[in-house]
Amino acid sequence: MLACFLEAPRKVAVKDVTVPKLAPGDILVRMEASGICGTDLEKIEGQLGPGGILGHEVSGTIEKVADNITDYKPGERVVAHHHVPCYQCPDCSNGNYTLCNEFRKTNIDPCGFAEYFRVPQYNVARAAVIPLPPELSFEEGAMIEPTACCIRAIRRAHVQKSDNVLVVGLGPTGLTQIQLIRNTTTGRIIGSDIVDARLKLGKKLGADETVNALTEDVPSQVRKMAKDGVDLTVVSTGNEKALSQAFNSVRRGGRILLFGAPSQGASYQLNVSELFSRQITLLSSYSCVEAEMEEATRLVREKRIDLKSLISDHFKLRDAEKALEFAKTSKTAIKTILVP
Ligand SMILES: [Zn+2]
Ligand SMILES: [Zn+2]
Repeated sequence: MLACFLEAPRKVAVKDVTVPKLAPGDILVRMEASGICGTDLEKIEGQLGPGGILGHEVSGTIEKVADNITDYKPGERVVAHHHVPCYQCPDCSNGNYTLCNEFRKTNIDPCGFAEYFRVPQYNVARAAVIPLPPELSFEEGAMIEPTACCIRAIRRAHVQKSDNVLVVGLGPTGLTQIQLIRNTTTGRIIGSDIVDARLKLGKKLGADETVNALTEDVPSQVRKMAKDGVDLTVVSTGNEKALSQAFNSVRRGGRILLFGAPSQGASYQLNVSELFSRQITLLSSYSCVEAEMEEATRLVREKRIDLKSLISDHFKLRDAEKALEFAKTSKTAIKTILVP
């Protein structure tokens, strides 16, 4: 089968490898759609530390199950989650599942950019194989994981009914967050990005206003719409420069939610006296767990979240190298999906 690996920083290769063998409790899935995430691109650039497994936004059809598996059958359409917590340690007991020591050790094998991938028993036993409802396409299925990450993040930000919110960075996750926030607040939602196509889509999906950060000063534009600044800013890009926009756009007593993964070792100079006197709360949210994966599936099925509008480009798995380069450099791409 074909699978795409990160061989060295900035060097990916699609290779012919053997289909993974199943141990008791494992499930083999035939990949039908696999989303390219910003973190895959950052891994390739070496910005998230050395090495890394590519592809974690996956859907597919069960090809084979281990002999002792009775809850799943070949032919079933599923979404699989790569990272799974233990649900027993102190972090898990506090609801900080994504901080669990086991979480990042778990993964699908060999990766999500593969014709077939094995979901290990550890994940299967913790409900990380989720049935994909018939009304959802495989492509929407591949976007359940990033949507679930957004659900977890927005929940951590405790959006109130009348909150004015700024979302900085309108990639697939920023655009999903706008929709989730729209479902909660009647306040104003403002989106900022540097790509006009994304700003346009932001408005279609629920933003009241958008600001092009290349040509306009985001904080002063924000204050035209929310005089004292916004209650919440979601930073949906890893670019630490976005933090200045966030810091200068939020009102006294407001919140900043860090969502986009900054590169390894990235730092930011912060006016701590202002942080203190304006009583600003900094929050972050990393990844998601099965409960949010299920909630994401439900929201898409109930048509309360539109993922189809975010899917912009498709590439064959054998062209993964080209697809990754495209996702990195394209000015029009929103979500790029690999298909078999
Ligand atoms: Zn991701
Ligand atoms: Zn745990």
